Amino acid sequence: MPEETMEDVETFAFQAEIAQLMSLIINTFYSNKEIFLRELISNSSDALDKIRYESLTDPSKLESGKDLTIRIEVDKANRSLTVIDTGVGMTKADLVNNLGTIAKSGTKAFMEALQAGADISMIGQFGVGFYSAYLVADKVVVTSKHSDDEQYTWESAAGGSFTIKPDKSSPLQRGTRITLYLKEDQTEYLEERRIKEVVKKHSQFIGYPIKLLVEKERDKQIPDDEEDEKKDEEVPQKEDLPKVEDVGADEDADKASEQAKKFKTVKEKYMEDEELNKTKPLWTRNPDDISQEEYGEFYRSLTNDWEDHLAIKHFSVEGQLEFRALLFIPRRAPFDLFENRKQKNKIKLYVRRVFIMDNCEELIPEYLNFITGVVDSEDLPLNISREMLQQNKILKVIRKNLVKKAMELFEELLEEKDSFKKFYENFSKNIKLGIHEDSANRKKLAELLRFYTSASGDEMNSLKDYVSRMKENQKQIYYITGENREAVANSAFVERVKKRGFEIIYMIDPIDEYCIQQLKEYDGKQLVSVTKEGLELPEDEEDKKKIEEQKQKLENLCKRVEKVVVSNRLVTSPCCIVTSQYGWTANMERIMKAQALRDTSTMGYMAAKKHLEINPDHSIIETLRQRADADKNDKSVKDLVMLLFETALLASGFNLEDPGVHAARIYRMIGLGLGIDEEEVAPIPEDTNPLDDMPPLEGDEEDMSRMEEVD
Ligand code: ADP
Repeated sequence: MPEETMEDVETFAFQAEIAQLMSLIINTFYSNKEIFLRELISNSSDALDKIRYESLTDPSKLESGKDLTIRIEVDKANRSLTVIDTGVGMTKADLVNNLGTIAKSGTKAFMEALQAGADISMIGQFGVGFYSAYLVADKVVVTSKHSDDEQYTWESAAGGSFTIKPDKSSPLQRGTRITLYLKEDQTEYLEERRIKEVVKKHSQFIGYPIKLLVEKERDKQIPDDEEDEKKDEEVPQKEDLPKVEDVGADEDADKASEQAKKFKTVKEKYMEDEELNKTKPLWTRNPDDISQEEYGEFYRSLTNDWEDHLAIKHFSVEGQLEFRALLFIPRRAPFDLFENRKQKNKIKLYVRRVFIMDNCEELIPEYLNFITGVVDSEDLPLNISREMLQQNKILKVIRKNLVKKAMELFEELLEEKDSFKKFYENFSKNIKLGIHEDSANRKKLAELLRFYTSASGDEMNSLKDYVSRMKENQKQIYYITGENREAVANSAFVERVKKRGFEIIYMIDPIDEYCIQQLKEYDGKQLVSVTKEGLELPEDEEDKKKIEEQKQKLENLCKRVEKVVVSNRLVTSPCCIVTSQYGWTANMERIMKAQALRDTSTMGYMAAKKHLEINPDHSIIETLRQRADADKNDKSVKDLVMLLFETALLASGFNLEDPGVHAARIYRMIGLGLGIDEEEVAPIPEDTNPLDDMPPLEGDEEDMSRMEEVD
């Protein structure tokens, strides 16, 4: 074989975050190092999945070898452990990119998680499992053969760099060979017993055979007189030996007794491949015979999770169509659950026990993508491609069933208070997204919702709890959306409703705004925002009369302001801003403005439509009214009304477009309070007549005209 020349070897620097991660792995004191093997086997299994999937539509892909296996080999003399797979392999570019120069989002996320107290064994969840090899090795050599490229070898002893070179020695047909040169104190991973233990613990459910070349012992008959000479016989190599089955123990026993004088039985060592993961696929077994521990182990090997699942559903469907499935709910949301839209689901699709693909979008709706599991269909063709799946009727039925079973699983969780709490903490966003998207299951999902309310205390309550506490004359469910619990609890909108003895639901998660757009009612009762126009609290006749009277009295103050409404919801605040029934709330406007990539065209017509609502009982309003009665052109009254309006905007959660004007008004008022001449303090830039020209708010002018059209 030709020696490679120096020019063939290329050196690369690890991307900075990866280098940092590697030194963290090498230098952190951590005892549970065995997980490295799980990570390498899991990578091999993924690579085998890939080639199998490619071969479904292009059988020639397997011409380079039909055998799909993972082998583990040890070399005690060189203190090395090798994992070999016949998977898809990596091209030179793959080696460079995947093993060192392109960091994934998980690289940083994992380091942050470690700093926050996470455990190194969580590494697989962050998609950087390969580097766990450095827990036990000081040098790692990866040789790989992909069908699109020659064979290359990657090598690194950490320290910030790795090398790549073409490799002609011991050619692989296809796949990857990873050799770990173990640290001095990690020789336990050269022991057969230890390797078997680790594979059984972490990888027994891997869907490809994991083989280990092991040393075995058997009886052998040798002529008695040659006994002395044979004593020091070396362990023969595997190829030289007959198979165990060939020996024929019974026959030999007979022979031995016949020729007892001439032959003698000795122990003989020999090498043989042993399959370490012979477990039958768990989902094919009867649920009654499966222990919780087994489910836990299966779940962990499926997901690389370090904890057991929170809940599980194991079921089969028979009839026109047949499949088995295992669905798990994890205990935690993955670190990137809502990071971007490309989040994949975690259901593995099998056809008659053969793995077909991960992340089959047609299997489960997006909002349920936190559920992991396995689906094994009896009916789908083995050579199904992603394109075919989109149209597939069988898949549609499977999907429907999976969703149904997921709903059952949620319902079961409701029975266990602590588990449900954990579930809701982690996946409430998914439930809410589900309410937004899945109209067929909206009702069921609504039962899972939990909120703080004006009467809930520190425990979140269900809508059912709310309804059970509704007052006799109460027809609607009241809610408010906002940024946090304190802000909504102290808002002026809540006060009157609360004062009248009604309970208000606090919706303080940004996604609540989306959820509530679809969830218009619960248990036949309409959900009504207390910040929107047209809120009618049940009231008695006397109340109505009083409001009518006050409306008359206030006419003078209000007549030039277009959108002023006399409130029946305010108690201690002089006024507040309400939004119309169909526009955004202040909270939604805040969320939408914060979305960098929002489509600006919606801003115009969806931006909150704001009306000023005033509290006729309030002394400020009362006094203003009297002043206005006395002098219709009192400038300070106009200024004060304007201030009231702007302050109400702020208090209701809106932003002012020009806070400078507002500030100038405040300074003028402060000046007035201190008896300083108005002009000296802070003249307002243009002397706009506040009552002719409603305040400067983004998109307002447009709004008004559109609103009138609508009205
Ligand atoms: P993950 O496997 O979670 O993506 P890793 O850090 O373990 O992250 O591996 C990085 C990448 O290297 C993998 O995504 C894969 O593309 C490639 N890789 C690792 N091991 C193998 C292997 N045995 N065969 C083929 N590709 C592999």
